[in-house]
Amino acid sequence: MIDTHAHLTSPAFISDLPIVLTRARTTGISSIICVSETLSDAHAVLNLTAAHPGFLHPALGLHPEHVTTLAPAQLSAALSGITSLLQTTPAVAIGEVGLDYTPRVLSLAASAADAKRLQADAFAHFLSMSQQLALPLSVHSRAAGHHALAHVVEAARRAPVAVCMHAFDGRAVHAERALRSVPEGLYFSVPPSVVRDDQLRKLVRRVPTERLLLESDAPALAPSRGERNEPANLVRAAEIIAEVKGVDVAAVRQTLAENTERLFTKVTPTFIT
Ligand SMILES: [Zn+2]
Repeated sequence: MIDTHAHLTSPAFISDLPIVLTRARTTGISSIICVSETLSDAHAVLNLTAAHPGFLHPALGLHPEHVTTLAPAQLSAALSGITSLLQTTPAVAIGEVGLDYTPRVLSLAASAADAKRLQADAFAHFLSMSQQLALPLSVHSRAAGHHALAHVVEAARRAPVAVCMHAFDGRAVHAERALRSVPEGLYFSVPPSVVRDDQLRKLVRRVPTERLLLESDAPALAPSRGERNEPANLVRAAEIIAEVKGVDVAAVRQTLAENTERLFTKVTPTFIT
């Protein structure tokens, strides 16, 4: 299994990251894509992943909440900082980036309209970087599922896209519609919180297995609410996908691994000894 989206530089893992990584390997996880939220987090992710070559892989991006709060000069410095890191480091993906239309995040800018415009501009920038550099995108779309998908569909009209919609909380019908418009390169990753989330189960039911991936979003989205999540919990998400699809869990894990390798082409999994 490959964890396509984890925040391992989070303070939640300061005291026991080595144990968390050992547990991940023991449950059959061969690779973890470590996403970043800010320019300084991108540097932290690069340092962490360099210490675990072949197992941890860096994804560099600016979270939409961060995009919404930065002053204009800081935002353009952060955007150009991430852009130059993407061109000069072994990043395997751009992320996490996207849109966040939750009222709390929209209230962080001068107005909701300003927040949406800032996020849209940054997201459009990262979509076109993704196409130019042939690096897949890990997309956050909280309370903005169909808006984020509209950007992806539009980008796909210009050039091929390589996109993972992470922890998609939009309606399954929007996902299905986008998949019809973007017949290649669009995937949805399923976190362990699928065990307690009917909306996510519905998404799993409606999206073909060939378009699903696994993610932890650790330390968020644990199987039990309020608990710290970790990559080892991927096994729970794989079980639910198998149950919803009515197929064998080993077959599901195999298909999801193949999907991940198709999208994240720079991730070469290590073999577990
Ligand atoms: Zn995340």
